[in-house]
Amino acid sequence: ERILIFLITPTYTRPTQAADMTRLSQTLQLVPDIFWIVVEDAHNRSRSVEDLLRRTNAPYAHLLGPRPPTHLDKRSGRGVSNRLRAFEWLRENYSNTTQKGVIYFADDDNAYDVRIFEEMRSTRIVSMFPVGLISTLGLSTPIVSRKSGKIIGFHDPFIGRRKFAVDMAGFAVNLQFFLNQKKATMPYKVGYEEDYFLKSLGVQIWQLEPKAQNCTQVLVWHTKTKPADQPKLTLMKKVTNYTET
Ligand code: UDP
Ligand code: MN
Repeated sequence: ERILIFLITPTYTRPTQAADMTRLSQTLQLVPDIFWIVVEDAHNRSRSVEDLLRRTNAPYAHLLGPRPPTHLDKRSGRGVSNRLRAFEWLRENYSNTTQKGVIYFADDDNAYDVRIFEEMRSTRIVSMFPVGLISTLGLSTPIVSRKSGKIIGFHDPFIGRRKFAVDMAGFAVNLQFFLNQKKATMPYKVGYEEDYFLKSLGVQIWQLEPKAQNCTQVLVWHTKTKPADQPKLTLMKKVTNYTET
């Protein structure tokens, strides 16, 4: 029986959106049995995203999950309203089904090695794996006990008050397990989205399944895209002065 990977991708209008989404969609073309849930942080579906999804050779849902006016500030997490909308959609469409699947949060600007998808496909509850390019350490990874082969802690530049100090791209959740956890939700609290979400699933550390060769391989990177530099006015003035003299 086929196990579908439900990829939840929040996206919104920014200069790099077309480049990010094109790269992600073409990565996904290399992966079998994907269901792409793309949720725009907007009040209307954008034509460019719609066209890209039509060109992509995978089943998809194109949804809208705008940030509520109460959560536009910097302390509110990015992409949360989108992911909450995807949760709603999954419950509406897959409750009372026997569909085998895995849920994964795939932000539009990360970089994915296609092998990560085969690693997560066998997730029975929650699986975890390292993520590269996280802040100053350049890495976020579960710590795996050599003796037991189990996850016993986390190595991440930001531990804070987190029980699960992981990045959004560093774990996957079994679909039926998620659907059975009626209280599963994600907070708007920046820095704590992953931790609260995993806590809301009621999962315990001993249940976590390490992937990517016992968390020794980096198969996904938290790359960040930024718009190209703006032309520097002072520099332009210099050039103009030079040509004048
Ligand atoms: N995002 C969004 N609305 C926003 C900001 C971000 O939908 O106002 C999406 C974005 O497209 C990405 C995810 O949320 O898929 C995380 O945002 P971003 O990449 O800017 O955050 P970072 O990687 O810097 O934490
Ligand atoms: Mn990002």
